[in-house]
Amino acid sequence: MKYVFLMSIAINLTYRVSLLYVINSIDQVFKLSITSTPVKPLDWAEVKITFRPNVVGQSYTEYYLVDDTAGNTYRLTVTGKCFGPDVILNKKILEFRIWKNVSEQRKNVVKIVNKSKVDAIYQWFLPNGGQGYFQISTGNCGVIHAFESITTSIVFSGISLGVYTAEIVFLVLNQEPIYLNVIAWVVLPGSPMYNIKDHTIQKNWKRKSRSAHLMENSLSCLCDIPQASVFERYLDFGKGSVIDLTLNISQTLCVTNHEMGDGCIQWFPDPDNVFIIDPISCVIPSNESRLFTIRYRPKENNEVYGYLLCGDYQYNKYDVDSDQFNVPKIKHTWFRIPCIGNTWPPCTEWNAEWDCPTEVVLPPTVPARTTFTNFMLSNKLEIPMYFKLEAPYNTNFVAMPMCGIVQGRGWQIITVALEPKAFGEYVENWDIIINKELKARISFVGNAETSHVELMSHGYNPGTHAMYEFPPTITGATNYCTAYMHNHTRMEIHLRVLTNVPWLGADDNGTLVIPPREIVRYHWWFFPRQADKVYETTVTCSCVCLINGKPVGEPTEIFINITGFSELPDLRVLPKTLNLHDAVVGESRTFPITLYNFGSCFFTSKLYPVIDGMGDDFSGDKFNIDCCVNSLKPSSHCEVNVTVTAGGAGSRQIDIKYTVVYRNEFNEVEEIQPIRKSICIIWYDGIYPTIKVKRSISVKCPVILSNHCVWNMINVEGLNKALEDCRPHKPLNADLYAPDLCVRSTDVELILVLGCVYSVPVPFNFRREKICDCEMIEVQIGISTYEMRHACVHRPLVEMSPMSGIVTPETPVLLHLKLMYTSEGRNTLCFVMTMPNHRTLNIFIHINAHVNSKGVLSPVRRVLGDDEYMTVMDCGRVPINNLDPVIRALFREQAGNEI
Ligand SMILES: [Zn+2]
Repeated sequence: MKYVFLMSIAINLTYRVSLLYVINSIDQVFKLSITSTPVKPLDWAEVKITFRPNVVGQSYTEYYLVDDTAGNTYRLTVTGKCFGPDVILNKKILEFRIWKNVSEQRKNVVKIVNKSKVDAIYQWFLPNGGQGYFQISTGNCGVIHAFESITTSIVFSGISLGVYTAEIVFLVLNQEPIYLNVIAWVVLPGSPMYNIKDHTIQKNWKRKSRSAHLMENSLSCLCDIPQASVFERYLDFGKGSVIDLTLNISQTLCVTNHEMGDGCIQWFPDPDNVFIIDPISCVIPSNESRLFTIRYRPKENNEVYGYLLCGDYQYNKYDVDSDQFNVPKIKHTWFRIPCIGNTWPPCTEWNAEWDCPTEVVLPPTVPARTTFTNFMLSNKLEIPMYFKLEAPYNTNFVAMPMCGIVQGRGWQIITVALEPKAFGEYVENWDIIINKELKARISFVGNAETSHVELMSHGYNPGTHAMYEFPPTITGATNYCTAYMHNHTRMEIHLRVLTNVPWLGADDNGTLVIPPREIVRYHWWFFPRQADKVYETTVTCSCVCLINGKPVGEPTEIFINITGFSELPDLRVLPKTLNLHDAVVGESRTFPITLYNFGSCFFTSKLYPVIDGMGDDFSGDKFNIDCCVNSLKPSSHCEVNVTVTAGGAGSRQIDIKYTVVYRNEFNEVEEIQPIRKSICIIWYDGIYPTIKVKRSISVKCPVILSNHCVWNMINVEGLNKALEDCRPHKPLNADLYAPDLCVRSTDVELILVLGCVYSVPVPFNFRREKICDCEMIEVQIGISTYEMRHACVHRPLVEMSPMSGIVTPETPVLLHLKLMYTSEGRNTLCFVMTMPNHRTLNIFIHINAHVNSKGVLSPVRRVLGDDEYMTVMDCGRVPINNLDPVIRALFREQAGNEI
């Protein structure tokens, strides 16, 4: 018994539980009840589940629906399995070998072992105490406890020469019967023993249940024709008399040989001589019948008699597989005919008290396959009890034994078989007649089923049992749809999918075992490889019931229509192209793009960029997609942020491409080969914030110079090139030449107008770098702090201002250069210019001051790198209308050689 609890959270609710899928009433082993009174908020409703299984080895599943007054429904699945005893005998054959007066082995031991954790009721079916030549030493019925083993000895009492065989049946309640074959030889000393291999005493149980063997004589619709059959199947002699033999009725048995050769029946005589069969043995020719008379000779008054008349039917069987084809083997078939009778005086009322179930449920089966179970009829009183089963007309069930005596405080295990001729439920009410007067009713319930699996279909297709449709799928990807398969039978069903299309797959390679009554989830797999195609097929599911893992009954076929559609992915991006123009190196630019699924499949894409460009190496450029994996339904879109970070200067093109990501049938993520087409192109130019000298101005100079002259004279082009070519961590050198002039006391002032190359402001910074060989000078800067300074004669030759600043597109910076011509000869000073991105420029400013002697000209324009230069003579003011100075040129061939 188990409990399930539901909590009500809002209002007072009343609950109800009901069974889903009512298929038949046979397996309703669960009983559910739910709190019937209204349940207050935060209180629990209790579902009580009782499990009363009735068939050993059977597993049960039921689906229930719990609903409440608020309209909520809950599905409750209840499963259970019924376990039973597992009792075995440690031997299958017993042999007794008697050499008369030499060695007589008359006792054999067999062990009953209970391998299960439940107690089991058992009964020896033959021989009963004192009957036959083989006797069970201990009681013929009892209880074997869990994991117990009981030793039983079997004694052989035959005297006359010959072979004695018997088949002892060991019955265990709720278990298949166990057979113990016994064989005994009684021979004179010196005679050879019979060969046990000449007898086939083990049955061919591969094809039928072991219970069928026990009931071989009782069943009417066996799968194959038996070797021989007997009629009647049980004999009730009623009331007899000890004195007046004419009151004792005699009955007749008819044995028919169904074989091609002769057969021989050997009956075992009743050692008490109450039931006398005549003839005791007889040869029956092929396809003929023989009659046997059984006379009833009770010995005592006021007594009940029961005897299990056993017949050993033998015939020769030629083993086709054997080398000795002509040497027959003797095959034995057993008949067991219960006989009962009494000598009760008229008007006697015999007390009886018994116990037996009111309903016996048989294990599941398929049409034309016999199913078995057993039940126990026990006698509660000390006096023996006489029972007889009465079958309704045209019954489908058989019971064995049909009549007999149950000893005081003993019991009889009765085997019941259902022989279903067709599909359906079989319910019959049988009567048990106890002591002729009393009657009890017992229901035999069973059913025969065909392999019935129901599928929850995606729609209706008149040509098939069910239809399924895959969601539209990207070609090359894998997809699935789920089928729910409901086994409607009480048996396991083995299902096999038959298909020949390569694009369809199914779970577990298309084979599945569905437990009784269960609903299982099953996946159909779709592997489309061709684009723009509608896939369609009809698969056949072959279903067959399984009992003990073996297929039984006729397979049924389910036709399933499966369709799918596949196309190539069509992911689009807005904007399709985008030009970001200048992108400052190291600075990120983030902007959104919109993805749009233009196809009809739901799919997951993974974006990736491909960068190409010219100029600096672009491997340092970064392109980051915020969320590169996106799942989009057809006709839906999403926005994704992308970030561009230039890593170097130059123009770049980024192509955004994508792959399709999907889960395969093993739940692993796979990617379809990249889709080559780019769906979005982004351009940008990586730049460094760069300064450019835009103009040069001569502010104060003894020679009047046009801006153009200054530009050329001081090498602005060289400086501009260095400013542009400068790269991080790679300092460049640039040379600036002050106009060559005579030594003089007043300074010369020039301005360089600094502007931006790109529309990006550029901060800059200058610092002096001492490159002359002069000593540093210690300068006191505090009371006791000193600093080493560059304060030699060279330092004041060039002053630059401002030493730092920001050049913006709107506001240029005027860089003032103040040059002193106080030191004769050529002097060079260095300024280190620092710009963003760790770029530095060493600017060397060269000043060449000549001796100031009258008539000597100072050069103002030089050819770079050439000492042979033209000089411009300082020859006074020029007329105002002529901006260029009036010059007389002199070419110096040699130093000091003047013309
Ligand atoms: Zn110096």
